[in-house]
Amino acid sequence: MPVQVSRNIRAGLGDEAEGIVDYLLGESDGLCTLCETPLNNAVETCVADHIVPEAEGGETTRENLQLAHKWCNSVKQNYTDDQIKPYVKFAKRYQIAGAGLNYGQAINQLDMFDFQPEPVTIDIDEKDDIVAFDFANGGGGSTPIYHEIVGGRDFPFCYMEVPITSLFNDDHCQPRSLKTNHVRSIYFDLFDNPLNEPACCRVVSNQDGTKKILMFDGQHKTLSMLLHSRECVVVKIYLDMTIDEATRLINTIQNKIVKLKASAFEAMGKLAQEFQADYAAYAEEVGDDASEAGFIHHIDAARRSRAKDACWAAIVDEFLELQTEIMPWIRLQGRPAPNPDNYPAHVSETMMKNKIAQGLMKKAPLEDVGQEGISRRVRERNNATTALNYWIAAVSEATGDNGNYSTSDITRINRNFRQPALTFSMALIKRIIGHIMVHEPDVALLQAEPNEGQWTLIATAISRMVNHPAWRTGRDYSIPAAELDDLLQLNNSITAKMNELHLTLNYCIVGELPDNIMQIQEE
Ligand SMILES: [Zn+2]
Repeated sequence: MPVQVSRNIRAGLGDEAEGIVDYLLGESDGLCTLCETPLNNAVETCVADHIVPEAEGGETTRENLQLAHKWCNSVKQNYTDDQIKPYVKFAKRYQIAGAGLNYGQAINQLDMFDFQPEPVTIDIDEKDDIVAFDFANGGGGSTPIYHEIVGGRDFPFCYMEVPITSLFNDDHCQPRSLKTNHVRSIYFDLFDNPLNEPACCRVVSNQDGTKKILMFDGQHKTLSMLLHSRECVVVKIYLDMTIDEATRLINTIQNKIVKLKASAFEAMGKLAQEFQADYAAYAEEVGDDASEAGFIHHIDAARRSRAKDACWAAIVDEFLELQTEIMPWIRLQGRPAPNPDNYPAHVSETMMKNKIAQGLMKKAPLEDVGQEGISRRVRERNNATTALNYWIAAVSEATGDNGNYSTSDITRINRNFRQPALTFSMALIKRIIGHIMVHEPDVALLQAEPNEGQWTLIATAISRMVNHPAWRTGRDYSIPAAELDDLLQLNNSITAKMNELHLTLNYCIVGELPDNIMQIQEE
């Protein structure tokens, strides 16, 4: 596990800087102070950070330092540790769990939540249009009933402040997994703004006469409120609504959510709104034979190319949910660039999607049906994530004095983040995995299930690739380095140049270079 201690902190510590990493590891109990999950992951970078921030008078002493995952620390921005902790605790556990849980599963499975939703007792007074709730926690109260008439059908509903422990996920109408980015934006927004729209629920009866309140919209809001330690949330509750009516109501009034069959491949839960109804109809028709290619074929020709894009966007979305190591280096759309003190260069969100995700994963829709199609995409996503973690760990390694970036580190980061470099490197990573696992590069990540020893070989090859002198040699000292720089800046392919410099699959596997490969010029 690489640990970074910045130049400022080392300078501030003076004599205490000696052995600081071992000291902090000893103090940490092996846990990140922000998310409280284990620090000890071979590819996860950790940083030393002030407990009381310097801006608030915190001193740079051993006692005022703590270790945190670099990713967790990157969430901080202008917020305090206490403000970000609930979110990073959730996001990290959600990523470790595989990022595929819906609201109910997250409450149930993530060890930071310590309750199970409980049923309620509901009494409806139809004459006076009043409804009374008795919650399991002892609270309750009465509230007026309103009516919405849709297509001649009366839907009675009310607004009620409900304990979050009384809300179940509506797995039938809303099976989709949570998105951490969505939770993140609502969670941070809640520091400044009240919520403007209540979550929507319906009610079902249990055999013992109690009822369950099922939430079919607003899961991300409710989870964010829970992370803010709110005990209650105001929800809109439809008092008499079947699954089909709820689904239709959602479609016609909210035009937002469609019931998706469980057999549908996972990423389709994230499909753009426009194609959800198409997908639901397709899945209904073919059942277990659903495939990505089959779905695209099912769409009429005029909309097919957009459906293909939407399908790919959903797959990339799932992939992005898993990223932790590279995320601090990404400039997300509409957000400020990463702090240049810690991240001397960054990759745009578009490059992350078009060069990295598309470079590693298969964009063309898969023909595989049912579970086989799901398994291949899950495998691809996990392989791409692991390989990318090794790649960014090597690219972002700080080899300067006291764990800081040296000039050649910064050159290496800058060159690797250029578009032609990303294209070149992702293609080579696929070939490395293909070579070690004996698969065609094009399907290697979909097929491969490397064991620990094979991952070690892959990681070594990726590290050789990144540490080739072409990436770090200064342009002023080497003609090939200057030529490479020029190609990168003009967005031209670097494949021929890298071949010339022996940055090939063979070099990554074997690790031998001819002497004077960069033809360093004598001053
Ligand atoms: Zn952490």
